[in-house]
Amino acid sequence: MAQAQLSKITSPSQALAQKRGYDYDLVIVGGGIIGLTLAAALNDSGLRILLIEARVQSASVMKGQAYAIHMLSALIYQGIGIWDKILPQIETYNRVRLSDADYSGVVEFNTSDIGSQDLGYVAEHQALLYPLQEFVKESPNITYLCPAEVISTEYLENVATVEVKIAGEICKIRSHLVVAADGGKSRIRQAAGIKTRGWKYWQSCIVAFVKPEKCHNNTAYEKFQSSGPFAILPLPGNRCRIVWTAPHDEAKELCALNDEQFLEQLQQRFGEQMGKLELLGERFVFQVQLMQSNRYVLNRLALIGDAAHKCHPVGGQGLNLGIRDAAALAQIIKEAHSTGQDIGNIKVLKNYERWRKLENLAILGFTDVLDRVFSNKFFPVVIARRFGLWVMQRVRFIRIFNLKLMIGLKGKTPELAKGE
Ligand SMILES: Cc1cc2nc3c(=O)[nH]c(=O)nc-3n(C[C@H](O)[C@H](O)[C@H](O)COP(=O)(O)OP(=O)(O)OC[C@H]3O[C@@H](n4cnc5c(N)ncnc54)[C@H](O)[C@@H]3O)c2cc1C
Repeated sequence: MAQAQLSKITSPSQALAQKRGYDYDLVIVGGGIIGLTLAAALNDSGLRILLIEARVQSASVMKGQAYAIHMLSALIYQGIGIWDKILPQIETYNRVRLSDADYSGVVEFNTSDIGSQDLGYVAEHQALLYPLQEFVKESPNITYLCPAEVISTEYLENVATVEVKIAGEICKIRSHLVVAADGGKSRIRQAAGIKTRGWKYWQSCIVAFVKPEKCHNNTAYEKFQSSGPFAILPLPGNRCRIVWTAPHDEAKELCALNDEQFLEQLQQRFGEQMGKLELLGERFVFQVQLMQSNRYVLNRLALIGDAAHKCHPVGGQGLNLGIRDAAALAQIIKEAHSTGQDIGNIKVLKNYERWRKLENLAILGFTDVLDRVFSNKFFPVVIARRFGLWVMQRVRFIRIFNLKLMIGLKGKTPELAKGE
C-alpha cells in the first residue's frame, strides 16, 4: 500500500525521472515550516518533490509556538504566492521598543525607519504551517507523505537513496538530492557525519501567552535584564506572547510556581503599560542553544533551517534564517535545473552554502553578542551598552542599520523576495 502511494505518477516530469531510474528529483526530510517552505518555493520548478514528515498533521499543527516574522520572510511568502492566506491569521507590529533594565533611554524602531506600512509580523505556528500544508497538498509536483519517517539515507556519486517507514512498511526511494529540514537534532545531518560547533546557554526560555487588559497597540518589546532578554510580541485577539529568558535554575523555579504566583512575577517583568495580565494556557520551557553545522552541503545532501543552525531566541531570528535558507536553496536548485545541471551535484550545492553559511553566522554572532552584552552586570559593559543605546536613539542611520540587519534586509535578497 505504501509503495503504491509512493509510485503514484503525478506529472510527465515524474514519468521521465522514473525512466531515468529516479523516483523523485528531490526528497525533503521534515515537513516543519522550513521543509514546507522549500517545497512551496519549488512548486513551479517542474521538479518532482517528495516531502516526508514523521508527525501526524494534527500534532505538528498544535505546537503552541509563535514567531516574530521579519519583512524579508513576508516578501518570500509573497513571492511564493501564499502570503494572502497567512496575513489574515497573524498580527502586525509597527513599533519595537528596546530597553535596558531601569535605564530610562528607550530605543524605538518604527515603520518610518524602513518606509513601509508594517515593521514585522507575529504568527502562531499553525497560522504558518496550515496554509503551507494546504498549498503543498494541492501542488501536482509535490507528494506529501505524512506520517512517514526517514530511517536511513545513502549518498552515492549519482544518486541518493532514502529508506522511509510508512505504516510499518519500509520503502526505498531514489533521488538526485536529499534536503534535511528535520530540525535541530537532525538525524540526517548526524548520519551523514556532519559535525557542528556551538554551545548551550546558561539560560532557558519560558514561553507563555497572555491577554492584557489594555490594547497592545501592535507594539513589540525587547526588555533586556541582567538574567536575560524578555520579549513581548503582539498577537491577534489582543493577546501577547512572551519569551522570558532566565538562568536554568530561575527558569525552573518560575515554572514550578502556581499560575497566580507566576502571573505576579510575570506582571513585574512585563510592566504596567498594558494593565493587568491574564495567563492563557500552559507555559513551556525551551533549552537555548547556539549551533552552526561545519558544512551545509555534501554531494546529494543539503541542510536547511534548524538542521543547519540554531541560535538564541533574542530578536526572533531562528525561523527567519530558515525561511531565507529555503528561498536561497530553491533559487540555486531552479537555476541549476533550468540550465540542465545536476541539482544534487556538490558544485551546484556549494553555491547555496557560500550564500547562506556566512550570513547565518553573522546573525548567530549578533544574537550571541546581544545576549551576552545585555545579560551582564560588569560595570564597564553596562556603561558601554547604555552608551550604545543612547547613540542608537539619536543617530538614525545606526538605528536603521541595526534594524535592517535584524530583519534580513542587509544580506543577499533571494529572487523570490524581489517579486521575480
Ligand atoms: C523559545 C524559542 C522561541 C523562538 N522564537 C522564535 C521567533 O520569534 N522567531 C523565529 O524566527 N524563530 C524563533 N525560534 C526558532 C524557531 O522555533 C526554529 O528555528 C524553527 O522552529 C525551526 O524550524 P524547522 O522547520 O527547521 O525545524 P522543526 O520545527 O524542528 O521541524 C522539523 C520537522 O522534521 C520532522 N522530522 C524530524 N526527523 C524526521 C524524520 N527522520 N523523518 C521525517 N520527518 C522528520 C519533525 O517531525 C518536524 O516536524 C524560537 C525558538 C525557541 C526555542
